[in-house]
Amino acid sequence: MIIEFEKIFYTYACSQKPTIENLSLQLHGGKRYGLIGNNGSGKTTFLRLANGLYRPHHGLIRISGKPLNYDRQSLKEWYQQVGLVFQDPEQQLVATTVEEDLSYGLCNLGIPNIEIEQRVAITLKDFNLTELAHFPVNYLSLGQKKRLAIADVMILKPKILLLDEPTAYLDPKQRKELIKQLEQIFKEGTTILLATHDLDFIYRWADWIFVMDRGKIALEGTPKQVFEQKILLEQLDLDIPLELKLRTSIIDN
Ligand code: ADP
Repeated sequence: MIIEFEKIFYTYACSQKPTIENLSLQLHGGKRYGLIGNNGSGKTTFLRLANGLYRPHHGLIRISGKPLNYDRQSLKEWYQQVGLVFQDPEQQLVATTVEEDLSYGLCNLGIPNIEIEQRVAITLKDFNLTELAHFPVNYLSLGQKKRLAIADVMILKPKILLLDEPTAYLDPKQRKELIKQLEQIFKEGTTILLATHDLDFIYRWADWIFVMDRGKIALEGTPKQVFEQKILLEQLDLDIPLELKLRTSIIDN
C-alpha cells in the first residue's frame, strides 16, 4: 500500500500564510518513518491532514492510487486505515474507565457487542492493561495514558499508525516501554510514522526520515543520509543525534 501526498496546501482560518505549503511525500507499507522539524514547522498539522481530520485547501491525498474523499463514509473508512495518536492523551481519552475507552471507537463503527468484547480483551492483554480494565482513566499515569491512547487506535487495526511526539514528557523507563510497544506494533505489520524531537531515538529506529521546515519537506532519506547533511541541518536549526556527535568528536581527536 502507498499513501501519496501531492502538492498539499493548508492555511488556518486566522492565518495569512499557508502552514503547509506545496508538501509532497509518499509513505510505503512496512516502513518506520520519522518526521522531524522545529516547533511550528507544521508536523502536527501534517499528521491531522494525513489522518483526514483536516482537509487540504489544494492538492491530493491518495491511497493505493485512489483519492481520499471527505464524505462521512470515506472518512470513517480512512480513520480505520490511518490512525492518529495525539501528543496529549487527554485530547484522545473520552470514557470513564480503560475498558470503556477501548470499546468507544468500535461502538461508533457499529461492531457487534460480542466482537467488541473479544477485541477489547485481546487489546487489554497486548497493551498490558488487563489489570487496569476497570480503572478510572483520570487516575492513570502519563505513561499509562499514552499506552491507552495507542491501544485506542490500534484496536481499530489501522494499516498506518501516526504518532505525534509519543516520547514527550515520558521518564526513561516509560520511554523504553513505549519504544518496545512500537516495535511490537511494527513487527505485527503496521506502518508507523512518528513526529518527534527525540533525535537519538529516531536515528536508531527509523528506516526513513522526513525533515519539515516551514510547511515543506526540506530533506528526506535514511537516517544516515539525513544526518550527514550537517550544513542544511544547521541552517534549519536542527541538532544531530548524540551518537553521531560522539563519533565525530572521537574521529576529530
Ligand atoms: P509543529 O507540530 O511542527 O510544532 P504545528 O503544525 O503545530 O507545527 O504548527 C504549525 C504552525 O501552524 C504554527 O505557526 C502554529 O502556530 C500554527 N497553528 C497550529 N495550529 C493552529 C490553529 N489551530 N490555528 C491557527 N494556527 C495554528
